[in-house]
Amino acid sequence: MSSSPSSFRVQAQNCGPLQTNAYLLVEHDEAVIVDPAIDADVLMQQMCDLAARGVKLVAIWNTHGHFDHVYDNARWKAEFGAPIFCGRADAFFLEHLREQALWFGLPAPEIALPDETLQEGQRLRIGETEIGVIELPGHSPGSVGFAFGDVLIGGDVVFENSCGRVDLPGADAATLAASLRRIWELPPQTQILPGHGAQTTVARERQNNLAARQLMAHFGE
Ligand SMILES: [Zn+2]
Repeated sequence: MSSSPSSFRVQAQNCGPLQTNAYLLVEHDEAVIVDPAIDADVLMQQMCDLAARGVKLVAIWNTHGHFDHVYDNARWKAEFGAPIFCGRADAFFLEHLREQALWFGLPAPEIALPDETLQEGQRLRIGETEIGVIELPGHSPGSVGFAFGDVLIGGDVVFENSCGRVDLPGADAATLAASLRRIWELPPQTQILPGHGAQTTVARERQNNLAARQLMAHFGE
């Protein structure tokens, strides 16, 4: 669906009852799954096919700890042996994954705690591609985005014509407004691959996203 230089590719699947977007990032002989959501079976099959050709799943990255984004962390880890990375302040959500799922009426998944935490400015790699971590708290305290080339995998911070909920535990509207401001300051051509809904761009959201604009105005951002 989107690409940056070299042989880097991104495969997306819209998954489960909350239509959560999972992304499989692949370059040469390395891959990463971002947000292994409920029933990301198309991506799981693709990764199994890639693994059979010698591609290694090197990590499982979570944009944030809400259950729909991390539901199959344990399944992917068991299948491929890759470590789980999540924002430091969202590790709490992974510990309480069962409660999160049951609260939503879904069967309790197996718990897998983060192996490593993510923080602002960290540089990650897949093959030859370097990927930066941007802390984007507000929807959850430890939300992060993954930035490479003109692409941002942004989790639930901004969507096409809407923005992340701030009525969940640990959420904060003023903090989300500041994170939206950071996204607004990215180059306008930046493609946003969100946690739900369609791919969009910074320019399009700056132009059209009334909810985000109102939230930023309210908090003086
Ligand atoms: Zn969320």
